[in-house]
Amino acid sequence: MPDTELTMLETAHAYFNESCDLLEINEGMRQVLLNPWRELSVAVPVRMDNGAIQVFNGFRVQHNGVRGPYKGGVRYAPAADSDHTRALAMLMTWKTALVDIPFGGAKGGVQVRPADLSTAELNRLTRRYTGAISHIIGPNRDIPAPDMGTNAQTMAWMMDAYGQANGYAPGAVTGKPIELGGSYGREAATGRGVCDVAALAAADMGLEMEGATVAIQGFGNVGSFAALRMAEIGVKVVAISDATCATHSPAGLDIDKVLEHSAREGSLKGCPWGERINNDELLELDVDVLVPAAIEGVINTRNAPGIKAKLIIEAANSPITYGADLILKERGITVIPDILANAGGVIVSYFEWAQNIQRFRWREERVNLELLTLISQGYWRTTDMAKERGITHREAAYAVAVNAVATAIELRGFI
Ligand code: NAD
Repeated sequence: MPDTELTMLETAHAYFNESCDLLEINEGMRQVLLNPWRELSVAVPVRMDNGAIQVFNGFRVQHNGVRGPYKGGVRYAPAADSDHTRALAMLMTWKTALVDIPFGGAKGGVQVRPADLSTAELNRLTRRYTGAISHIIGPNRDIPAPDMGTNAQTMAWMMDAYGQANGYAPGAVTGKPIELGGSYGREAATGRGVCDVAALAAADMGLEMEGATVAIQGFGNVGSFAALRMAEIGVKVVAISDATCATHSPAGLDIDKVLEHSAREGSLKGCPWGERINNDELLELDVDVLVPAAIEGVINTRNAPGIKAKLIIEAANSPITYGADLILKERGITVIPDILANAGGVIVSYFEWAQNIQRFRWREERVNLELLTLISQGYWRTTDMAKERGITHREAAYAVAVNAVATAIELRGFI
């Protein structure tokens, strides 16, 4: 990211303040909405396989809980510091409000590179971290889920560690394996929601999805399921990438085969299909739709002038910097913001939590249909506001979400 760009937290605050200006929200309410309601910083000591002790920094930030229990993923990454976690927690508050599910916003983080730890070390780290935050989480308090660097196995360990102290409570975490009360469709949900939203936005722009070209950056949980779903509905996925490399085939890639290779080899490296390009080139390909589904800040003031896609779906959190967003706005490129585009994950987490509480499992068809309903409603709330006020989808999404949270605070009457 260029030095002059805002950080992720500054970016989240800037969008928030702009929506408060638009909604004419007073200074006192701004402070209530801006500041995390609770932050916990924990030291996580782990006995490593070689007998040495290593201490990791962990965080749980509960940004706002006025609309329900806090909800948000846990990220295992070296960059997951307190400011990073604060920014992501705030995004969760707006995301749950925008798609109108009964949760607040939170995020967790542990500063660790998971690839450096063995499975046994990750298990011990997860149990210790869960123990350190267990007094502030729970099915009616705060419900963690997977994010970058964590997965269904991590959630199984979290559920077990929480349950040892508090009794069986599968609703304490979401994104669990199916065998432990996970929901059908949860693993694919974020990528599927990305595709649902892309189809809605494309239709609105008069862009035919069948045969449209898409480039996807990131081939992890979100990117791979977005690619699979796009291919399923007839979109031509012409480029994909991960942290190791990117591949481009103007005729379209066979996503099933690429996925098979990536699962077998652990990355896209050595993938025999398409022409090798780098991640920067992927972002500037001449495609209809661009889906950044990896990390933050990849579209910045340096490359935004060269972006050729007509539509960008922010599958990752905060992949476009504040400065780049201004450039894309000036250039008339439609951006579907993260708080809408990747809300499919938290929507199906909500379904998982509801199923756990009711001890009743839904079929996958029901999950996917309800996901489509909720994310479409979020899309139309956003788009109606954008059209009515002549503002961007991001400005509209923030305005709808911030207004919903402010209204809930007023109605509760605690200030
Ligand atoms: P993941 O760890 O499963 O996958 C991340 C992918 O990005 C991997 O393919 C990795 O190789 C790639 N990557 C990492 N650094 C890169 C780089 N510099 N350039 C190109 N590719 C790079 O993570 P995920 O769960 O798919 O999450 C991706 C993004 O989506 C994150 O921003 C996350 O917060 C967001 N998100 C995830 C979910 C979810 O349900 N998993 C929900 C909402 C939002």
